[in-house]
Amino acid sequence: MGASKIQVGKIQIGMIGLGTVGSGVVQLLEKNRDLIRRRLGADIQIKKIAVAQTQKKRSLKIASSLLTDKVEEVLNDPEISMVVELMGGIDPAKRYLLQAIEKGKHIVTANKAVLAHHGAELFSAAEKKKVGLGFEASVCGGIPILRALREGLVADQVTSLYGIVNGTSNYILTEMTSEGSSFEEVLKKAQEKGYAEADPRFDVNGIDSVHKLVLLLRLAFGVQVDVESIYTEGIGRVGPLDVKFAEELGYRIKLLAIAKLEGDSMEARVHPTMLPKETLLATVDGVFNAVYLLGEYSGPGLYFGSGAGGMPTATAVVSDVVDIAKNILSGIGVRGSERMVPSKKIKPIEEVQCSHYLRFMAVDQPGVLAKIAGFLGEEGIGIASVIQKGRKLQQSVPVVIMTYEAKGRAVERALAKVDQLPVVTEKSLAIRIETDLG
Ligand code: NAP
Repeated sequence: MGASKIQVGKIQIGMIGLGTVGSGVVQLLEKNRDLIRRRLGADIQIKKIAVAQTQKKRSLKIASSLLTDKVEEVLNDPEISMVVELMGGIDPAKRYLLQAIEKGKHIVTANKAVLAHHGAELFSAAEKKKVGLGFEASVCGGIPILRALREGLVADQVTSLYGIVNGTSNYILTEMTSEGSSFEEVLKKAQEKGYAEADPRFDVNGIDSVHKLVLLLRLAFGVQVDVESIYTEGIGRVGPLDVKFAEELGYRIKLLAIAKLEGDSMEARVHPTMLPKETLLATVDGVFNAVYLLGEYSGPGLYFGSGAGGMPTATAVVSDVVDIAKNILSGIGVRGSERMVPSKKIKPIEEVQCSHYLRFMAVDQPGVLAKIAGFLGEEGIGIASVIQKGRKLQQSVPVVIMTYEAKGRAVERALAKVDQLPVVTEKSLAIRIETDLG
C-alpha cells in the first residue's frame, strides 16, 4: 500500500496593489510555496489582484486573468477571505479597507500612513466584525518588531524605545558621515540608487517615522495616539558640518523615533539625535533599520534588519497572511486586537530635558562667544564644552556648544535671542543628545 497523500486545504486571498511590495508578495508565495504549505498545512492562493493599470508593463510574470482595475472584483468575491492592501496612501485605501472589513474579510496591510491616521477607526471596525488586521509590514519592513512586541514581550512592559525606522534618512546621514557630502548631494545619489522616492519629503521630514512610531506606541504602551500630537522634526537642517563635529565629539547623528514611559505620561518624539558612537544603534548604517527596546524585566534588546524593499517587506506581509490563515483553518476565529489603556499625556517637547549640541554661525569678532554664553546662562543652560574652529576674522564661522541637561523650552528661548544678534548669519541649530542606550 502506497503512502496516503496528505490533503491540504487552500486559502484564497485578494490583493490591492502590485508594486514593489505586491510583486514581492507574489514572488515569495511562489518561491516558498512548499515551505509555506508545510508550515501552514494549506496553500495560499492569490485569486485576484487589483491594480491601477492592468496594461502596465511589469517586471514579474503574471497571468493577465489575475489582474483587474476594478477593486470591487476583490472586495465582492465571496471566495476571497483575506484582502492584502499594498497600494498605499490614505484615500481610497482607507475606504477599501473598511469595505473589505464590512464584508467580513480579514485584512493585511503594509500601509502605515492609513493606520497612523485612521488606526482607531480601522482597528475598531475589524474588532466589531471579528476579522484579523495584520500590519507587521507597516513598521520596519523585514524586521518582525511588531510580533516581538505582541508575542515575545507580551509578559513584559517596554519602558523605552528608540528606533531608526526610516532607511532613506539613515542612508543620507550615513553617507554624509562617510563622504562629507551635503544633504542635497546625498539625496540625489539616494534617488539615483533607488533608496529614496522621487518625492522624499515623508522620509526626510520625519513623517514616515512618526507614522511608524504611532504603531509602535500601540503595541509597546497600549495607547492610540494622534500623529499630530507627536513632535516631529526631519533631517533637512543637519549639515556636513554637524556630522563632522558630531564625529569629532564622539557621536553619530541618527533620525530617531523615541518613546519613553514616565508614570502617567510619556515621551513620544521624532527628531535628529546624537548618540554616543559606541552605542549599538549608532552603528546601524545605510538603509538598515533597528529598534532598541528596554523591557522592565527582559532588559535591553536590539532588533535589526532590512526596513524596506520588496522581498523583505513581503516576508512580513506573508507572515500576517499565514498567521490569519492558521486561525481560519483552526476555526478559532481571530485574536482580538490589543487592549488599549487610556491614552497617556505626551510630555510637551519644551518640557523634555536632555543635553544638546548647539551650532551657531556667527561673524568671527571679539565678544561673540561671550554674548552667546550670556544668553544660555540667562536661560539656566550649563555649558559642557565649546568648539570654535577655523578663525577667519570678520567672516562667518561655526561655534559649537555642548550643553548639560536643559529643557527644550530654555534652549528654544536662548536660540531665539542668539538669532537676533546682527553677527549671527544663519538660524542656529540644536540637536538633542540621548545617552541612556546601553
Ligand atoms: P508602489 O510600488 O507604488 O505600488 C502601488 C501599487 O498600488 C501599484 O501596483 C498600483 O498599480 C496600485 N494602485 C495604486 N492606486 C491604485 C488604485 N486606486 N486601485 C488599485 N490599485 C492601485 O508601492 P509599494 O512601494 O509597493 O508600497 C505599498 C505599501 O507598502 C505602501 O503603503 C507603503 O507605505 C508600504 N511599504 C512599502 C515598503 C517598500 O519598501 N516599498 C516597505 C514597507 C511598507 P499599478 O501597478 O497599476 O500602478
